[in-house]
Amino acid sequence: MSLVRTPAEIDVDAVVARFRELYDAEPDGVWAAPGRVNLIGEHTDYNGGFVLPIALAQHTVAAVRQRADDTVRVASATVDGGVPVTVELPGVTEGGEYGWAAYPVGVGWAAAQRELPVTGLDIALDSNVPVGAGLSSSAALSCVTARAWSDLLGWDLDDETVADLGRDAENKIAGAPTGLMDQLASVCGRAAHAMQIDTRAVTIEQIPFDLPACGLSLLVIDSHTEHTHTTGEYAERRHSCQEAALRLGVRELRDVPLESLATTLDKLPPLLRRRARHVVTDSARVEQVAQLLTSGDDPRRIGPLLSESHASMRDDFEITAPSVDALQEAALAAGAHGARMTGGGFGGCVIALVDKQQAEPVAQACVAAAADGGFATPTVFEAVASGGAARLR
Ligand code: ADP
Ligand code: MG
Repeated sequence: MSLVRTPAEIDVDAVVARFRELYDAEPDGVWAAPGRVNLIGEHTDYNGGFVLPIALAQHTVAAVRQRADDTVRVASATVDGGVPVTVELPGVTEGGEYGWAAYPVGVGWAAAQRELPVTGLDIALDSNVPVGAGLSSSAALSCVTARAWSDLLGWDLDDETVADLGRDAENKIAGAPTGLMDQLASVCGRAAHAMQIDTRAVTIEQIPFDLPACGLSLLVIDSHTEHTHTTGEYAERRHSCQEAALRLGVRELRDVPLESLATTLDKLPPLLRRRARHVVTDSARVEQVAQLLTSGDDPRRIGPLLSESHASMRDDFEITAPSVDALQEAALAAGAHGARMTGGGFGGCVIALVDKQQAEPVAQACVAAAADGGFATPTVFEAVASGGAARLR
């Protein structure tokens, strides 16, 4: 049996049938929004630097109908036994408790804050984005809602603003501190492209990333491990970056030039030096990877940069974990061109760039390495750069 899994397809007809059954009505339409994986550029977003995500083929599909009142009813096939949650929009406030419904209803709250016209919605949804694996199931959920609401009510927003509604829902109503990358990737994804996002200017450049055309695969290896102190560690890294920028006399670490970096960083105590070095070099690696891919060079050449990024996260930023280090090393030893942890850290997923025929041996090597190390058995799938949030029907 193949260890590289093919994600189960979402049956759109079944989502529509479920909508009819729950609400005794026809949906006005069906929308989808994907999860994402970040190729390179970790913890660079809150330093004004670059990131390079792709939108995944795994997505959240929602059948939606506009209501005449202010009520939102939302049912998720895989949660609460598929029973709808009901929320009255006028009562939604920051700090309220809405469970997972915070993501969809938070979008309505965010739209109302912008004085857009808002009505209630009936929603039935299903998803094949792994939840809580760092692949942004949350952005798939908030962005599918934002796209649907915007289309149904004719908000006429640019993609960045649609993404921003999703981010506000996550930050302010779900209480999850994320940058804009997840939502931008979910809204703006394009098949066979990665997105180089300048997180300061909030601009997106679509970068060619057609791996299958080059006989390559990008594996996502989910370690199924997560550190319990992630929030505290994240806060510490943010603080260290701010402190380093302050001491170096720059607005953000983005403003530290790569040239003569060692001399510049000499002004910092050892811990801040390592933290800053990761941010500056990883943001630069995003630009180098984007340049290689844009120049039409063999994408295999980005491999060493991916692996350097992992070393930087492991040694300088100290956000990897024994389980992900073991997977990264196993992937390289089994012939990957490059591999790195992706996401906030302390667990989560590793990505590996492999020749198509090496996908299975690399997956096997990762499963064996996890068993040797006494870690959870990883699951593996191939990431395919796919389109962003869109109406399906
Ligand atoms: P990630 O975005 O990496 O998957 P998060 O913790 O940011 O992890 O988001 C996961 C949360 O998003 C879930 O706990 C749940 O509240 C919500 N969520 C995501 N997808 C769904 C879904 N299909 N149905 C219901 N809730 C979902
Ligand atoms: Mg998330």
